[in-house]
Amino acid sequence: MTQNSDWLARSQQAVWHPCTQMQHHARTGDPAHLPLIPIARGEGPWLIDFDGRRYLDGISSWWTNLFGHANPRINAALRDQLDTLEHVMLAGFTHQPVVELSERLAALTDHQLGHAFYASDGASATEIALKMSFHYWRNVGRPEKSGFLCLAGSYHGETVGALAVTDVAIFKDAYAPLVRRAAHILPSPDARLAEPGETAADVARRAAAALEAYLASHAGQTAALIVEPLVQGAAGMVMYDPEYLRLARQLCDRYEIHLICDEIAVGCGRTGTFFAHEQADIDGRPIRPDLMCLSKGISGGYLPLSIVLASDRIYAAFLDDSVARAFLHSHSYTGNPLACRAGLATLDIFASDDVLTVNRAKAAKIAAALAPLAEHPKVRHLRQRGMIAAFDVLTDDPYFSRRFYRAALDAGALLRPIGNTVYLMPPYIVSDDDIAALGLAAQRALELALA
Ligand SMILES: *Cc1c(COP(=O)(O)O)cnc(C)c1O
Repeated sequence: MTQNSDWLARSQQAVWHPCTQMQHHARTGDPAHLPLIPIARGEGPWLIDFDGRRYLDGISSWWTNLFGHANPRINAALRDQLDTLEHVMLAGFTHQPVVELSERLAALTDHQLGHAFYASDGASATEIALKMSFHYWRNVGRPEKSGFLCLAGSYHGETVGALAVTDVAIFKDAYAPLVRRAAHILPSPDARLAEPGETAADVARRAAAALEAYLASHAGQTAALIVEPLVQGAAGMVMYDPEYLRLARQLCDRYEIHLICDEIAVGCGRTGTFFAHEQADIDGRPIRPDLMCLSKGISGGYLPLSIVLASDRIYAAFLDDSVARAFLHSHSYTGNPLACRAGLATLDIFASDDVLTVNRAKAAKIAAALAPLAEHPKVRHLRQRGMIAAFDVLTDDPYFSRRFYRAALDAGALLRPIGNTVYLMPPYIVSDDDIAALGLAAQRALELALA
């Protein structure tokens, strides 16, 4: 029988793993050494290796998985789709899953974002949104509106175009000369920046004031502001008050720039509402962006799928006799029927299981599971938004995140800190016992990593 060790050695040789210093996998004995973990199969929140060890997937396999691995309902939908239509090009052709998914997403935005454009990964969705905004302004006769704004610590993907609006040094610095025109970076409304006596909403108002100051003199050259609503994931689960989104929406309207919400990580119920931006409202109605990016959870964590939803107004600016005014962008697998069908099965589960309501109870359990850590002398800023909970660890140890990750694996949980920020972001099907186990694994891993 093939064991972990065989797959590990073969993978190390033949597979160039993402976001990884491969030498850290190869050199045992190195303090940075991390073993690869070959996974044989998945089952609900569990990942199971070739030696039969089980790991609770506490981070939803890079924030993608919503309803567990090998989910019977998504599997059944995909089997049916596989026997019906696996793929057809989307230029000149269409099919049932892509039409139904587009209609259902439009309905979820109260038909404010009624035009769905498809790609396969999140970074492509970012680039599509940037290109659409830029091209919109050209089509309406204002080509000088070509600049972009993003927040400090923003992450919108790692392709060369998406790096222009990404502000995470480890991903960006090496390639900075390749990024043609980087976005202007605005202060983040990060709630941790509150001065004594300030609330998170106060920090949001301060950050919005900086946005306004910039727009007052540069709106004429600016196409769009792109934000990760409520939680800046890759920056280390930076959380901020919805007040920022409300004010940003008003400022974008007043100064005529697009608001792009990158809901790739925070969409699909992660923060407690289906879309994170819905927690900001004006006159009792949720704000809406002009363009929204979705990926990660939208296929349930099954297949690469990303979507940019656009408003009627943006869509209309591309309608013309001229082909050059059209949005001439495509990927080979644009609108792949299997991926769209996984998306439909995912939305079916939201509808039939009242997932947002059930998640409120689970979020409370997550809070309870991490609550003991609030007293820990090395823990700061324990915070939560829906199904994402995080805390920062005070340590100078450059290997902290690796030590924690390994200790958590030994405790049977997949938890992968971002720098010194530990977070829980489990699939929504975790049981109360699973949540308690994740909390205990986090406490145990913290003790071992700091020892
Ligand atoms: C993951 C992520 C992306 C990039 O998606 P990929 O599929 O990894 O290219 C973009 N924006 C945010 C907010 C993300 O979390």
